[in-house]
Amino acid sequence: MSEDYNIYEVVLQQLDNAAARLELDPRIKELLAEPMRTLKVSIPVRMDNGQIHVFKGLRCQHNDALGPTKGGIRFHPRVDEDEVKALAAWMTFKCSLVGIPYGGAKGGVECNPKELSQGELERLNRGFIQAIAPLIGPNKDIPAPDVYTNEQVMSWFMDEFSKIKGVNTPGLVTGKPLVIGGSFGRHSATARGIMYTVREAAKILDLDLHSASVVIQGFGNAGSYSAKFLHELGCKIIAANDSSGGVYNPEGINPCRLKKYKEENGNVRGYPGTEPISNYELLTMDCDILVPAALENQITGDIAPEIKATLIAEAANGPTTPEADEILHDMGVFIIPDILANAGGVTVSYFEWVQNLYNYYWTKDEVDSKLEKIMVSAFNRVYELYRKENVNIRVAAYMVSIDRITAAMKARGWVECEAREFSKII
Ligand code: NAD
Repeated sequence: MSEDYNIYEVVLQQLDNAAARLELDPRIKELLAEPMRTLKVSIPVRMDNGQIHVFKGLRCQHNDALGPTKGGIRFHPRVDEDEVKALAAWMTFKCSLVGIPYGGAKGGVECNPKELSQGELERLNRGFIQAIAPLIGPNKDIPAPDVYTNEQVMSWFMDEFSKIKGVNTPGLVTGKPLVIGGSFGRHSATARGIMYTVREAAKILDLDLHSASVVIQGFGNAGSYSAKFLHELGCKIIAANDSSGGVYNPEGINPCRLKKYKEENGNVRGYPGTEPISNYELLTMDCDILVPAALENQITGDIAPEIKATLIAEAANGPTTPEADEILHDMGVFIIPDILANAGGVTVSYFEWVQNLYNYYWTKDEVDSKLEKIMVSAFNRVYELYRKENVNIRVAAYMVSIDRITAAMKARGWVECEAREFSKII
């Protein structure tokens, strides 16, 4: 991974590539190249030692042409404005691609949650919501969990906002516990979406999933559930890693037992019956399907020529650099791009919000079957355009996505709509 790779530059390049093919109005491109707004806040928090510490936070709203903005909030010692802007833009493109009525947003608070007591964390969370309350709401901007934020954090967010407004507002955030308005299937939704798109791609590639070998980079939430669902389809998980190291067994690893091992030991390293492997060995391993599910910028131009997988399903956001993307495309590797592959998470977040708004809750089967329809339909739209336009799959995904946002911007009058024709593709 290149430490100084700016992922916002990656977003701009992806936008450029699709804009050129779409012959996009430069004003639309200008509107998509910068977020609508970014709010920077200072949050004074009384620490357990009695002193006040001031934390810094951000909330970036990229584009709301299609509906209220949506995106996670991360707590991390390094919260970088460009990174937040990039992640907000990806949310816009992802929501548009799968056809859900949201724009994109992202937020972060600069802190190390591992060093905070539970009381300090709760006060910080409530303080952050007080600071961004004027900007968020179920019809304005809907936060969700991200790195180092979870169901508990979402519960505090929702509770604090409800107190500020004097109205119980479960639709403020998604990723809540079931008991206060969460949705069945949310935890595993990203991976379930990955599984549906891999299944569709395998049909096209004539890849038999009953004998396909799978490698998972980043055995966390998205990675471990992806392993589980692909294993259920018959795939053999031959390697997985996390930040502690990697494990390999050509005969296959049971993902549920590996997950239990990780829960008990804190990481996958040392899982019985496996050999240790490096991150490089894992990424370049002979396999059918590679699922990068850790961080951005993992598959670089240096590594791409060494990749052996025929199918890459991007569970992580931005795991492949633009340089690597071109190399892999030329090598004939089929990439299911992040804005398509991992869109299951935000799709079920949307389901959670819909259930909150009409206060009626669906079964897990209802959630799963609605998710499947959306993911399969998005996959097919991208695949058809990829075939028709002879572009790489990521460009095709951006073209479908940007076309829909463009139609919304034109309909709203943000730029003129000369021919009364809102869309070229949708
Ligand atoms: P997570 O924290 O649960 O898991 C990430 C895993 O990656 C951890 O096991 C961590 O140890 C591992 N990891 C970190 N650095 C690594 C490295 N250098 N090499 C190998 N492994 C490493 O996070 P998550 O929610 O599963 O998210 C993973 C990725 O998927 C992120 O890019 C996230 O933005 C993306 N994503 C997640 C969701 C979701 O619903 N969870 C939705 C969309 C996108």
